[in-house]
Amino acid sequence: MEGTCGICKGRLGPIHYDEPSDPQHPLSFVIDEIKPVSRWREFGYESPRAAAEDWNNLQPAHYCCNAFKSNQIAGKGQVLAQKIVKDGTW
Ligand SMILES: [Zn+2]
Repeated sequence: MEGTCGICKGRLGPIHYDEPSDPQHPLSFVIDEIKPVSRWREFGYESPRAAAEDWNNLQPAHYCCNAFKSNQIAGKGQVLAQKIVKDGTW
């Protein structure tokens, strides 16, 4: 599962696999569900579990990208994330 962040497509740089996944490490590694499991019916899954266990529905991502996505403010989040990288602060 190593690779580029599937949300920002690597625009924020490589994922920091060696850091803990917490808000202090916005570029740390998390597993992102491409299609939100909570909307499993919309995507044709038989159950929420089927969505959560579909490897094709999982991708590596930055902690910050995943957090912004799950807050459903992706557009605004990417601007914030770019700011984080630019001035190195959360
Ligand atoms: Zn990212």
